[in-house]
Amino acid sequence: MVVMKFGGTSLGNASRIRQVAGLIGRRNDCFVVCSAMSGVTNTLVDTAGYWKSGDHEQAGQLISGLRKHFEQTCYELFDDEEATTNAAGIVNDHFANVYNRLRSGYDLNNENWLLALGEIVTSEIIALYLNAINIPVTLLNALDFTVTGSDGEPSVEDMRQRIKALTGEKPAGRFLTQGYICLDHQGNVANLKRGGSDYTATLAGAALQAAIIEIWTDIDGVRNNDPRLVEDTFPIRELSFDEAAELAYFGAKILHPSCVWPASSNRIPIHLKNTMEPEAPGTIIRSGIQRKGITAVAAKEGITVIRIRSDRMLNAYGFLSRIFAIFEKYETPIDVVTTSEVSVSVTVDNDSHIGEIEKELTGLGKVRIESGQAIVCVVGDILEQHQDRAVRILDSLRHFNVKMISYGGSRNNITVVVPHEEIAGILSSLNSFLFGSPLKTNDTWLISQE
Ligand code: ADP
Ligand code: ASP
Ligand code: MG
Repeated sequence: MVVMKFGGTSLGNASRIRQVAGLIGRRNDCFVVCSAMSGVTNTLVDTAGYWKSGDHEQAGQLISGLRKHFEQTCYELFDDEEATTNAAGIVNDHFANVYNRLRSGYDLNNENWLLALGEIVTSEIIALYLNAINIPVTLLNALDFTVTGSDGEPSVEDMRQRIKALTGEKPAGRFLTQGYICLDHQGNVANLKRGGSDYTATLAGAALQAAIIEIWTDIDGVRNNDPRLVEDTFPIRELSFDEAAELAYFGAKILHPSCVWPASSNRIPIHLKNTMEPEAPGTIIRSGIQRKGITAVAAKEGITVIRIRSDRMLNAYGFLSRIFAIFEKYETPIDVVTTSEVSVSVTVDNDSHIGEIEKELTGLGKVRIESGQAIVCVVGDILEQHQDRAVRILDSLRHFNVKMISYGGSRNNITVVVPHEEIAGILSSLNSFLFGSPLKTNDTWLISQE
């Protein structure tokens, strides 16, 4: 069994969906995970925002636009009149429900229900299309098997049992389902956070003990730097699980931050492929990669730095645990930590409880909050052979306003925190320093790939 995940851009319009159908048709046994058509989840998020603020008119307008978009896709996709009518009927039924819900009051459960719509409608259209063109698929409802525990996380074993109940012990044939959406432990519709279809795919890959997990997107594999911000990036053909996890966690949007562990802990390779160029090699993420040099750079925006200063910290024990307990209480993960004798600085990317956290930290010391920051992370074998590698990387950043440095936590990562507006500059600068052509010839330790 092979897991194939198609992202929003791969399903962006009727001709892309046709292309994807061709790729699915090449496999006899596959478990296909679909995102929503591109832009749909963004529109749903905006709709929820208007709904929450009581602006029903704007919310209604966005929803009508989405309904038209789906209908239009159906008209362009299906040749057969009956199938077109069926598909348009599915869209209309779903949207009739949405209009009903919008009339009822906003609450978080209704919002999460709304956010799931993109994946549900997209997958139903695609399943109908595949069956109409004689590529038989069985549509599975992801809410029947992606269920999070009380910690908000899904478990591979739970998913395995639930999929088995739907497909039998040894599933064969083609299955198609939704990424991203799930039920929470109380049975409410929820999701695995933005970009979560990658996570559904790797969880399903682990649950099914798949031979490989293919993630089909709009670019030829993971690149050495963020292609949205930097020119002259190049694809990395092979990545270790650790490198991929670091890159995903620290901002490479191509992968959901949590999607590597289900594959790595089950040693299932992930193959990133380009739907627009299916024969291009893409990137393989697997175990057993020996790295010599720096692999890639990534950045994550929307970071808040929290600094806590207290003289009571001097020679005291248990201080850090009291600080971390506050973050645990508010279920806010910490990304980067630095400490000195009398102060601790941490970064978070989720600032939804920042007010409460600040208030409680004030009981421990003086607190300073800096929002609008970014994390930039260099991934590769930082320690290998060249003792001065980290120093040279940091030296190349001397013109930037580096606010925190994390080095030594693992041998394949060095992370700095900078103001958000410096991201593009710092990524470009690192690109020429680490991967630029003069250095490729003069300074072989900096060569990453190819
Ligand atoms: P999908 O809709 O298929 O899930 P995403 O938009 O989530 O696709 O991810 C693919 C995008 O990630 C690419 O189009 C690219 O702009 C962006 N991206 C950011 N960093 C990287 C990177 N290091 N390598 C490749 N793509 C990256
Ligand atoms: N549709 C969801 C999103 O846009 C999930 C995904 O694309 O992976 O975030
Ligand atoms: Mg994505």
